[in-house]
Amino acid sequence: MITYHGNCHCGAVIFTFRSETIRSGLRCNCSICVRKGALMSTEYFGPDRFTRVSGEENLALYRFGDRLVNHYFCRHCGIYPFHEAVECPGHYRVNLGCVAELDVAMLEVAWIDGRAF
Ligand SMILES: [Zn+2]
Repeated sequence: MITYHGNCHCGAVIFTFRSETIRSGLRCNCSICVRKGALMSTEYFGPDRFTRVSGEENLALYRFGDRLVNHYFCRHCGIYPFHEAVECPGHYRVNLGCVAELDVAMLEVAWIDGRAF
């Protein structure tokens, strides 16, 4: 397991998570992901592996539609650092572009057809 370190653009929101070496990411064509354009982690990280380090007060929350996902963004720089599964509180998918140890241009990209869900 590697400890990865993430932050939003302005640094107001900081998080860490533990994962096997990340070699790929996920993109999605649903109405919100296609607008964010972020490369996301392929898995959700649970409470045993994911830590919201600081900046709790800087996170804003956006929900829409079925409200199954907490879409967080930094209220200062607007960047999406991670989102949370409402039905699995404490389980996060991460914006890999926010992760210090990763260069998203070097990762394999898989697509999920979120638009069809
Ligand atoms: Zn920020």
